[in-house]
Amino acid sequence: MSLPKSWLPAATMTRVILHWTGGAHVASILDRQHYHLIVEGDGNVVRGDLAILANQAPIRGNYAAHTLGCNSGSIGVSLASMAGAKVNPWNPGSHPTTAEQWAAGAEIVAELCQRYAIPVTPETVLSHAEVQETLGIRQRGKWDIARLAFDPSVFGARVVGDRFRRDVQAALDGARNRATVEPKGKAKAPDANAMELAAIVTAPVLNLRKTEDGAIVGKLPRGTRLAVLDHDRGWSEVRTPAGVLGFVASKYLTLDA
Ligand SMILES: [Zn+2]
Repeated sequence: MSLPKSWLPAATMTRVILHWTGGAHVASILDRQHYHLIVEGDGNVVRGDLAILANQAPIRGNYAAHTLGCNSGSIGVSLASMAGAKVNPWNPGSHPTTAEQWAAGAEIVAELCQRYAIPVTPETVLSHAEVQETLGIRQRGKWDIARLAFDPSVFGARVVGDRFRRDVQAALDGARNRATVEPKGKAKAPDANAMELAAIVTAPVLNLRKTEDGAIVGKLPRGTRLAVLDHDRGWSEVRTPAGVLGFVASKYLTLDA
């Protein structure tokens, strides 16, 4: 699986929180308002209304509200499932989580971890049900995901979370192994380079920043040619001729054809 690049804007994100929607096997309007990514019952992935960047700390304006008191820096991924589920006695309801969506969830979370340099640890990749215990942030009796509908032998928030982290790590390892067997000569991200755009600085002096609208880390004179790695909401992530990575305001760039 590979998420569209436009779904993964440059942002500083610190963790991924996995949920279930408590709904049917398709993403609803409400689901799209609360999560960044929703995995449907057949493994299809739907983007939420709000970009991942909206939850970058400090949060300003509208953001995806998926975890009480823990949305800042948190990417919300949800498995569309578990409508009418009950803990005790255990009943997975009318739309149990499927093995396909669990696997797709692990794949996309692996992509997120890679894109945003999030390590796969209990504090940084966890289910909503683990948030209170692991991060000490009180939740209102949330038990997503303390039960695996397709494998009833796995239950308990931490046990399910460990299983998810193992699957995410396996997906990451698989992606790395595939990457290393690619017959490319260049050591430095050959695939990314192939897709890179180039742009020229048009302002007399352009500030290079550490993050979008963040601290100034350099000054780029007019005419400097930059590799554009990503862009979103008026900011471009660039690499300078000296190999320095940073962000610049896109309006002071012109594409170099
Ligand atoms: Zn939740």
